[in-house]
Amino acid sequence: MIPASYVGRFAPSPTGPLHVGSLVAAVASWLDARAVGGRWLVRMEDLDVPRCEPGAADTILSQLEAYGLHWDGAVLLQSQRDDAYAEALAALQSIGVVYPCACTRSQLADASRNHEGEIIYPGTCRNGLPAGTVARAWRVSVPDVSTYFHDRIHGDLQQNLAHEVGDFIVKRADGLYAYQLAVVVDDAFQGITHVVRGADLLWNTPRQIYLQSLLGLPTPVYAHVPLITNAAGQKLSKQTLAPALPETGCGAVLTRALATLGHPPPDELAGAEPSEQLAWASAHWHIENVPTEAAIANPVSTPENCLTPDP
Ligand code: GLU
Repeated sequence: MIPASYVGRFAPSPTGPLHVGSLVAAVASWLDARAVGGRWLVRMEDLDVPRCEPGAADTILSQLEAYGLHWDGAVLLQSQRDDAYAEALAALQSIGVVYPCACTRSQLADASRNHEGEIIYPGTCRNGLPAGTVARAWRVSVPDVSTYFHDRIHGDLQQNLAHEVGDFIVKRADGLYAYQLAVVVDDAFQGITHVVRGADLLWNTPRQIYLQSLLGLPTPVYAHVPLITNAAGQKLSKQTLAPALPETGCGAVLTRALATLGHPPPDELAGAEPSEQLAWASAHWHIENVPTEAAIANPVSTPENCLTPDP
């Protein structure tokens, strides 16, 4: 059952303009909120300052406007939330669940990896810093138990954090707070009840649920929509040179994004103004119709259209 007080969000990292993969996630989260008369907030995850691109946040907002994805209230900037993250870290320190870690990336290079390709932290610093080393980051100790969670698209899932992730970083060696900590602090601060985001973050969810439990924060309801991949099967991203979402011809792109989400608009609305298509889609939105595949090939990468990368 969807509560009347639904609050959703879209939380892009302004490392570059939105691409069609981010559009699919934004549209899904917007529709899921608007279909029940809920609020939809935008949060700029500009925490990782070195990775942010100047001007990208403004570009993202103007892309959202162009696609008719209007948000409620002011945009929250993670770059202005350090005090809140510091407070959360202090709370974790006060209950003794975090510890300083001296390991460098290269020291961990040979550690085993999980199915996402992430290093499973072997616990090197868990019982104290090895002699002669200095603290670089902060990690949270995870328990050797399964975290059970429900995803509205992927169903009932579980992960043992100790086996599949290991103690994870909450404050990085460069002094920045980690995404996992910031996201739970901000989801709670913004009163987010429902998270709808890309499936690349599905297996981050148990880490976030664990931090929420330690910090006494509510756990939102989660849904992870398919990622969009390029012709080589890679996730669209800045690293894989995904082309920016165009701000003209949006109707045609939106039609394909909706089809990818299992909600193809009727023929008479294909390519129509975004506001018309979104009005139709929010009236017909059923999250059960979203494909359960973790990844789907880019629906807008045919040679004749403007989203095709340059050769
Ligand atoms: N900032 C993340 C991204 O752009 C999304 C985080 C989230 O939705 O939890 O991939």
